[in-house]
Amino acid sequence: MELEVDAVIIGSGPAGQKAAIQVAKLGKRVVVIEKDALPGGGSLNSGTIPSKSLREAILDLTGFYKRSFYGKEAINRNVSSGDLNYRLQRVLEYQRNIILKQFAKNAIRLITGIASFVDPYTIVVHDSSGKKIHLIKTDKVVIATGSKPRNPNHVPFDDSTILDSTRLLSIDHVPKTMCVLGGGVIGSEYASFYAALGTEVTVVDKGDTMLPLLDKEVGAHFTHALSEIGLKFIGNKNVEKIEKCNSHAKVTFSDETSLEAQVLLFALGRVANVDTLAIENAGLSVNARGHIPVNPLFETAQDTIYAVGDVIGGPCLASTSMEQGRLAARYAFGAEAHPFPTFFPIGIYTIPEISSVGLTEEELQKKGYKYEIGRAYYYEIARNQIAGNDPGMFKILFHAETLEILGIHIIGRSATEVIHIGQVAMTFNARIDYFINQVFNYPTYAEGYRIAALNGYNKVKHKL
Ligand SMILES: Cc1cc2nc3c(=O)[nH]c(=O)nc-3n(C[C@H](O)[C@H](O)[C@H](O)COP(=O)(O)OP(=O)(O)OC[C@H]3O[C@@H](n4cnc5c(N)ncnc54)[C@H](O)[C@@H]3O)c2cc1C
Repeated sequence: MELEVDAVIIGSGPAGQKAAIQVAKLGKRVVVIEKDALPGGGSLNSGTIPSKSLREAILDLTGFYKRSFYGKEAINRNVSSGDLNYRLQRVLEYQRNIILKQFAKNAIRLITGIASFVDPYTIVVHDSSGKKIHLIKTDKVVIATGSKPRNPNHVPFDDSTILDSTRLLSIDHVPKTMCVLGGGVIGSEYASFYAALGTEVTVVDKGDTMLPLLDKEVGAHFTHALSEIGLKFIGNKNVEKIEKCNSHAKVTFSDETSLEAQVLLFALGRVANVDTLAIENAGLSVNARGHIPVNPLFETAQDTIYAVGDVIGGPCLASTSMEQGRLAARYAFGAEAHPFPTFFPIGIYTIPEISSVGLTEEELQKKGYKYEIGRAYYYEIARNQIAGNDPGMFKILFHAETLEILGIHIIGRSATEVIHIGQVAMTFNARIDYFINQVFNYPTYAEGYRIAALNGYNKVKHKL
């Protein structure tokens, strides 16, 4: 069938959804093409939402936070994959319905099929059997095709033992032992979830620490918290071979040591989804990292074609992808738009969770800032004791003379929520004493800002 529209959005993940809704809100005709039968993208079907649902289900069903009151024995170790999957599927169905409702409400047509370029203004859609089902003429295109796990050919992936982050979601048992290759965000999150479930987890990485981009002090706190839940980290290891031996995964390292586990999670990076797009027909190509290059307006080399989300490379977050999609749609149709924010929070949903905004202490040192630090530990926060005394800290970095806040790093319960208070304060160039001069709800985790601010301010007040 031949169609003519104002914009084609390729991909129904967070970037594509927000681009499509924005195009529709501008009164333009838009179609979304999605190759998977289920809309929502990697974010809904295999990434953000399933992993965060799994995390919440594990914390809840194990009664994880009971342990500070009643000891580790109080944790329920009999949570089955069926229990977890039930919770997961409920969330996914709910979220999927919301997307479909939003599309319907905004008259956005969703076409299931694989999109590829014929030329910059023509998209062909094939079904999964290779049959051509649509030819679409359009003024603008937004490529929002996301990414998938980087799975090298020499790794013998299957559906039960040697897994990537997508396959891990379909295992039908809670493994007794697990080896996670890669101490980045995805590897660290899943490793901590399974450790909290009671699986014996070992994370292996070629670097000497997990999550190396963290502020070092927060990283040390994180390592300690993980060891408390029994997670083991082995750094400075290079993988030589991965094989399946007697229904176990076996990893051999270049120093001739090896590790066996019931399940291996291979979490060593992701690649952009460009292989089915035929971007060369639109005069486009990928950069050395396999991403589609764009300018600050998310325009590709072809000014009617935009690209957003994971397909353009870092930061590769659902949060940033959504805003990129919305902005690209506004730029495409000449609507007023602000530049993409230069600073935004990062949320890492490990157990414990971590969130930060602004610079790390190491970055401040490198840039030669005169800074001071305010700290608050979770044991000082009444709300945390009420909820089960978990480890954690607030670390606020601020200019030692102007008192301007330069970076906020939080590890512990609710970190990914309370970070936004600091983000807003920083956006309005708040000084550290802002947190001292305000009244906060009590008892809350947010009290950590006041405690940290007082701690930091007291270190510099006599110099001001
Ligand atoms: C395990 C995991 C946990 C994560 N946790 C978080 C988190 O907590 N917070 C966060 O902000 N981010 C998180 N992320 C990252 C987040 O999921 C991605 O950044 C986000 O999904 C990117 O959105 P997107 O719209 O660019 O692409 P995607 O969500 O990947 O969607 C792209 C869609 O395009 C479709 N597509 C591809 N090619 C074609 C084609 N030729 N034709 C038609 N359709 C096509 C794909 O099928 C897919 O549905 C996580 C990722 C993973 C893997």
